[in-house]
Amino acid sequence: MLKIAGLNSGYGRVSVLEGVNLEVDEREIVVILGPNGAGKTTLLNSISGVAKATAGTIEFDGKAITGARPEQVVRMGLAHCPEGRQIFQRLTVEENLVAAHIGRGGKSFEALRNEVFELFPILKERRNGMASRMSGGQQQMLAIGRALMAEPKLLMLDEPSLGLAPKIIQQIFHIILNLSKSGISILLVEQNVQLALECGDYAYLLNTGRVRLHGPAQKLATHSDIGDLYLGGA
Ligand code: ATP
Repeated sequence: MLKIAGLNSGYGRVSVLEGVNLEVDEREIVVILGPNGAGKTTLLNSISGVAKATAGTIEFDGKAITGARPEQVVRMGLAHCPEGRQIFQRLTVEENLVAAHIGRGGKSFEALRNEVFELFPILKERRNGMASRMSGGQQQMLAIGRALMAEPKLLMLDEPSLGLAPKIIQQIFHIILNLSKSGISILLVEQNVQLALECGDYAYLLNTGRVRLHGPAQKLATHSDIGDLYLGGA
Protein backbone atom coordinates (compact mmCIF):
# COMPACT_ATOMS: atom_id res chain seq x y z
CA MET A 1 0.00 0.00 0.00
CA LEU A 2 2.76 2.48 1.05
CA LYS A 3 6.44 1.87 0.42
CA ILE A 4 9.17 4.32 1.37
CA ALA A 5 12.80 3.64 0.48
CA GLY A 6 15.91 5.63 1.36
CA LEU A 7 13.99 8.80 2.11
CA ASN A 8 15.88 11.99 2.92
CA SER A 9 13.75 15.01 3.59
CA GLY A 10 13.59 18.34 5.39
CA TYR A 11 12.69 21.98 5.10
CA GLY A 12 14.76 24.10 2.73
CA ARG A 13 18.36 23.61 3.78
CA VAL A 14 17.41 21.92 7.04
CA SER A 15 17.79 18.18 6.59
CA VAL A 16 15.63 16.13 8.99
CA LEU A 17 15.11 12.57 7.73
CA GLU A 18 17.96 10.33 6.60
CA GLY A 19 17.60 7.03 4.80
CA VAL A 20 14.12 6.18 6.08
CA ASN A 21 12.62 2.88 4.90
CA LEU A 22 9.04 2.12 5.89
CA GLU A 23 6.12 0.06 4.64
CA VAL A 24 2.41 -0.08 5.36
CA ASP A 25 0.44 -3.07 4.08
CA GLU A 26 -3.27 -3.20 3.40
CA ARG A 27 -5.44 -3.04 6.53
CA GLU A 28 -2.39 -2.62 8.72
CA ILE A 29 -2.00 -0.14 11.59
CA VAL A 30 1.61 1.04 11.54
CA VAL A 31 2.83 3.16 14.43
CA ILE A 32 5.65 5.71 14.37
CA LEU A 33 7.15 6.40 17.77
CA GLY A 34 9.93 8.72 18.84
CA PRO A 35 10.79 11.65 21.08
CA ASN A 36 10.08 15.31 20.29
CA GLY A 37 11.96 16.49 17.24
CA ALA A 38 12.67 12.94 15.99
CA GLY A 39 11.15 13.71 12.60
CA LYS A 40 7.77 11.98 12.91
CA THR A 41 5.71 14.93 11.66
CA THR A 42 8.28 15.55 8.93
CA LEU A 43 7.84 11.96 7.78
CA LEU A 44 4.05 12.38 7.46
CA ASN A 45 4.56 15.78 5.80
CA SER A 46 6.95 14.20 3.29
CA ILE A 47 4.42 11.52 2.40
CA SER A 48 1.58 14.00 1.95
CA GLY A 49 3.77 16.36 -0.10
CA VAL A 50 4.04 19.19 2.45
CA ALA A 51 7.78 18.61 3.00
CA LYS A 52 9.94 17.79 0.00
CA ALA A 53 11.96 14.61 -0.35
CA THR A 54 15.56 15.27 -1.39
CA ALA A 55 16.38 11.58 -1.97
CA GLY A 56 14.61 8.25 -2.02
CA THR A 57 11.20 7.12 -3.22
CA ILE A 58 7.65 7.08 -1.89
CA GLU A 59 5.19 4.72 -3.55
CA PHE A 60 1.48 4.58 -2.78
CA ASP A 61 -0.91 2.03 -4.23
CA GLY A 62 1.71 1.03 -6.80
CA LYS A 63 2.40 4.58 -8.02
CA ALA A 64 5.30 6.91 -7.28
CA ILE A 65 4.17 9.94 -5.26
CA THR A 66 7.64 11.32 -4.49
CA GLY A 67 7.44 15.08 -5.04
CA ALA A 68 3.67 15.05 -5.62
CA ARG A 69 1.64 17.99 -4.32
CA PRO A 70 -0.66 17.53 -1.28
CA GLU A 71 -3.85 17.88 -3.35
CA GLN A 72 -2.63 15.17 -5.74
CA VAL A 73 -1.77 12.83 -2.88
CA VAL A 74 -5.16 13.17 -1.17
CA ARG A 75 -6.94 12.61 -4.49
CA MET A 76 -5.17 9.26 -4.74
CA GLY A 77 -6.70 8.19 -1.43
CA LEU A 78 -4.05 9.10 1.11
CA ALA A 79 -5.48 11.46 3.74
CA HIS A 80 -3.51 13.31 6.41
CA CYS A 81 -5.02 14.32 9.74
CA PRO A 82 -2.34 16.77 10.84
CA GLU A 83 -0.85 17.60 14.21
CA GLY A 84 -2.87 20.29 15.97
CA ARG A 85 -6.05 19.25 14.09
CA GLN A 86 -6.15 22.30 11.81
CA ILE A 87 -9.89 22.42 11.46
CA PHE A 88 -11.62 25.65 10.45
CA GLN A 89 -12.40 27.13 13.86
CA ARG A 90 -14.84 29.73 12.56
CA LEU A 91 -16.91 27.32 10.49
CA THR A 92 -19.58 24.96 11.78
CA VAL A 93 -19.03 21.21 12.01
CA GLU A 94 -21.03 20.63 8.83
CA GLU A 95 -19.20 23.41 6.96
CA ASN A 96 -15.87 21.85 7.94
CA LEU A 97 -17.03 18.56 6.41
CA VAL A 98 -18.28 20.30 3.26
CA ALA A 99 -14.88 21.99 2.84
CA ALA A 100 -13.11 18.63 3.16
CA HIS A 101 -15.25 16.83 0.57
CA ILE A 102 -13.16 16.48 -2.58
CA GLY A 103 -15.43 14.11 -4.50
CA ARG A 104 -12.65 11.57 -4.91
CA GLY A 105 -14.48 8.25 -4.68
CA GLY A 106 -17.96 7.30 -5.73
CA LYS A 107 -19.81 8.45 -2.62
CA SER A 108 -21.91 11.61 -2.35
CA PHE A 109 -21.27 14.28 0.26
CA GLU A 110 -24.39 13.22 2.17
CA ALA A 111 -23.38 9.54 2.24
CA LEU A 112 -19.88 10.33 3.53
CA ARG A 113 -21.15 12.88 6.05
CA ASN A 114 -23.62 10.32 7.38
CA GLU A 115 -20.82 7.77 7.78
CA VAL A 116 -18.85 10.35 9.77
CA PHE A 117 -21.93 11.11 11.90
CA GLU A 118 -22.42 7.40 12.55
CA LEU A 119 -18.83 7.08 13.72
CA PHE A 120 -18.99 10.25 15.82
CA PRO A 121 -22.62 10.88 16.94
CA ILE A 122 -21.50 13.99 18.84
CA LEU A 123 -20.63 15.65 15.51
CA LYS A 124 -24.20 15.10 14.33
CA GLU A 125 -25.50 16.67 17.53
CA ARG A 126 -23.20 19.66 17.09
CA ARG A 127 -23.45 19.87 13.30
CA ASN A 128 -24.61 23.51 13.27
CA GLY A 129 -22.30 24.60 16.08
CA MET A 130 -19.08 26.51 15.56
CA ALA A 131 -16.00 24.24 15.64
CA SER A 132 -14.26 26.62 18.05
CA ARG A 133 -16.96 26.00 20.66
CA MET A 134 -16.23 22.28 20.89
CA SER A 135 -13.94 20.48 23.34
CA GLY A 136 -10.47 19.25 22.32
CA GLY A 137 -11.74 15.70 21.94
CA GLN A 138 -14.67 16.76 19.78
CA GLN A 139 -12.32 18.86 17.61
CA GLN A 140 -10.08 15.82 17.19
CA MET A 141 -13.11 13.79 16.09
CA LEU A 142 -13.95 16.50 13.58
CA ALA A 143 -10.35 16.46 12.30
CA ILE A 144 -10.59 12.70 11.73
CA GLY A 145 -14.05 13.16 10.18
CA ARG A 146 -12.61 15.72 7.76
CA ALA A 147 -9.88 13.29 6.67
CA LEU A 148 -12.51 10.57 6.15
CA MET A 149 -14.43 12.85 3.76
CA ALA A 150 -11.65 12.08 1.25
CA GLU A 151 -12.61 8.35 1.28
CA PRO A 152 -9.03 7.37 2.10
CA LYS A 153 -7.43 4.00 1.53
CA LEU A 154 -4.71 5.09 3.92
CA LEU A 155 -5.21 7.52 6.78
CA MET A 156 -2.26 9.25 8.45
CA LEU A 157 -2.91 10.49 11.98
CA ASP A 158 -0.44 12.80 13.74
CA GLU A 159 -0.71 12.50 17.52
CA PRO A 160 -4.50 12.23 17.74
CA SER A 161 -4.36 11.78 21.54
CA LEU A 162 -2.38 14.96 22.23
CA GLY A 163 -3.82 16.91 25.17
CA LEU A 164 -6.93 14.73 25.56
CA ALA A 165 -8.36 13.09 28.67
CA PRO A 166 -7.75 9.30 29.06
CA LYS A 167 -11.41 8.43 28.44
CA ILE A 168 -11.46 10.38 25.16
CA ILE A 169 -8.12 8.84 24.13
CA GLN A 170 -9.65 5.36 24.60
CA GLN A 171 -12.58 6.42 22.40
CA ILE A 172 -10.27 7.73 19.67
CA PHE A 173 -8.20 4.53 19.69
CA HIS A 174 -11.38 2.44 19.53
CA ILE A 175 -12.39 4.39 16.40
CA ILE A 176 -8.93 3.92 14.88
CA LEU A 177 -9.25 0.14 15.35
CA ASN A 178 -12.72 0.20 13.78
CA LEU A 179 -11.49 2.19 10.80
CA SER A 180 -8.76 -0.36 10.29
CA LYS A 181 -11.30 -3.20 10.47
CA SER A 182 -13.39 -1.42 7.85
CA GLY A 183 -10.44 -1.73 5.45
CA ILE A 184 -8.56 1.58 5.86
CA SER A 185 -4.81 1.30 6.44
CA ILE A 186 -3.51 3.53 9.22
CA LEU A 187 -0.18 5.26 9.74
CA LEU A 188 -0.21 6.60 13.28
CA VAL A 189 2.27 8.97 14.94
CA GLU A 190 1.85 8.68 18.67
CA GLN A 191 3.60 9.69 21.90
CA ASN A 192 1.44 7.37 23.95
CA VAL A 193 3.78 4.39 23.46
CA GLN A 194 1.92 1.71 25.37
CA LEU A 195 -1.49 2.39 23.85
CA ALA A 196 -0.05 2.75 20.36
CA LEU A 197 1.79 -0.57 20.57
CA GLU A 198 -1.34 -2.29 21.88
CA CYS A 199 -3.33 -1.00 18.94
CA GLY A 200 -0.71 -1.26 16.17
CA ASP A 201 0.41 -4.23 14.06
CA TYR A 202 3.89 -2.95 13.27
CA ALA A 203 5.97 -0.10 14.67
CA TYR A 204 8.96 2.06 13.84
CA LEU A 205 11.00 4.03 16.34
CA LEU A 206 12.48 7.22 14.93
CA ASN A 207 15.16 9.28 16.59
CA THR A 208 17.18 12.14 15.11
CA GLY A 209 15.71 11.53 11.67
CA ARG A 210 16.57 7.84 11.38
CA VAL A 211 14.71 4.58 11.99
CA ARG A 212 16.43 3.13 15.07
CA LEU A 213 14.23 0.11 15.60
CA HIS A 214 11.29 -1.56 13.86
CA GLY A 215 9.28 -4.71 14.20
CA PRO A 216 5.88 -6.19 15.09
CA ALA A 217 4.26 -3.91 17.69
CA GLN A 218 3.99 -6.65 20.31
CA LYS A 219 7.70 -7.42 20.00
CA LEU A 220 8.66 -3.77 20.29
CA ALA A 221 6.53 -3.41 23.40
CA THR A 222 8.84 -5.84 25.19
CA HIS A 223 12.10 -4.80 23.51
CA SER A 224 14.71 -4.11 26.15
CA ASP A 225 16.38 -1.28 24.19
CA ILE A 226 13.24 0.75 23.48
CA GLY A 227 13.69 3.09 26.45
CA ASP A 228 17.36 3.82 25.61
CA LEU A 229 16.63 4.32 21.93
CA TYR A 230 13.71 6.56 22.75
CA LEU A 231 15.78 8.77 24.99
CA GLY A 232 19.30 8.53 23.69
CA GLY A 233 19.22 8.26 19.90
CA ALA A 234 21.75 5.79 18.48
P1 ATP B 1 7.16 16.48 17.85
O1 ATP B 1 6.70 15.32 18.60
O2 ATP B 1 7.77 17.52 18.70
O3 ATP B 1 6.14 17.04 16.87
P2 ATP B 1 8.49 15.23 15.61
O4 ATP B 1 9.13 13.91 15.80
O5 ATP B 1 7.19 15.26 14.92
O6 ATP B 1 8.41 15.97 17.00
P3 ATP B 1 9.34 17.09 13.61
O7 ATP B 1 8.25 18.06 13.91
O8 ATP B 1 9.25 16.30 12.38
O9 ATP B 1 9.55 16.11 14.83
O10 ATP B 1 10.69 17.92 13.64
C1 ATP B 1 11.96 17.35 13.28
C2 ATP B 1 12.99 18.44 13.18
O11 ATP B 1 12.65 19.32 12.11
C3 ATP B 1 13.11 19.31 14.42
O12 ATP B 1 14.48 19.53 14.67
C4 ATP B 1 12.41 20.59 14.05
O13 ATP B 1 12.99 21.69 14.68
C5 ATP B 1 12.64 20.66 12.54
N1 ATP B 1 11.54 21.35 11.85
C6 ATP B 1 10.22 21.05 11.93
N2 ATP B 1 9.47 21.85 11.15
C7 ATP B 1 10.35 22.69 10.53
C8 ATP B 1 10.21 23.77 9.59
N3 ATP B 1 9.02 24.13 9.11
N4 ATP B 1 11.35 24.39 9.20
C9 ATP B 1 12.56 24.00 9.68
N5 ATP B 1 12.75 23.01 10.55
C10 ATP B 1 11.67 22.36 10.98
